[in-house]
Amino acid sequence: MARYTGPSCRLCRREKTKLFLKGDRCLNGKCSLEHRSSAPGQHGTANSKIKEYGKQLREKQKAKRYYGLQEGQFKSYFKEADRTEGVTGSNLLILLERRFDNVVYRMGMAESRKEARQLVLHGHFRVNGKKATIPSMLLKAGDVITVREESRSSEKIKALAEGLDSRIAPKWLAVDKEAIKATIETLPTREDIDFPFEEQLIVELYSK
Ligand code: SF4
Repeated sequence: MARYTGPSCRLCRREKTKLFLKGDRCLNGKCSLEHRSSAPGQHGTANSKIKEYGKQLREKQKAKRYYGLQEGQFKSYFKEADRTEGVTGSNLLILLERRFDNVVYRMGMAESRKEARQLVLHGHFRVNGKKATIPSMLLKAGDVITVREESRSSEKIKALAEGLDSRIAPKWLAVDKEAIKATIETLPTREDIDFPFEEQLIVELYSK
């Protein structure tokens, strides 16, 4: 299935929640959801009762869109989460947090996950000193993310590096702002993921 290329804000309106897909715009009072909260489309204001399946579907769509994934990719993560020991819903979110593009976003070197994916694809980062260009790569505790030497002169990278001071990284990620470097100190836990997902609904959806 092709990647969604329409307006990001439309996805937030569809899910009736802020998914933070447009970087600073989501935080500086320009968020369109704060001014127009009805769902897109001609039935956006219809007061229909959301049935259980609908709730589960919406929660899955919310998580999929938050992390910028396609359906097949998302389902693969669910299967892996289900195979792994522990609570499937938590496993799923932790896997998604470990994606390389998400870690670049979390360290503050991209304004959105979409931008992080582009920067990774363009080869601006290294993992443990080696070139890494796969946004879906799963990182592990101890991995070190740095900016490629040749990319440090890029205006985009310089602007993002200057903005690191105003960004707060999660506690599982140690960011050295001077060196533009992040180290995964421990894998994130469910409690470290601050978005209010109801992941059990996703598990119920895929368990039918
Ligand atoms: Fe979503 Fe950000 Fe657009 Fe607000 S500004 S609707 S949070 S993408």
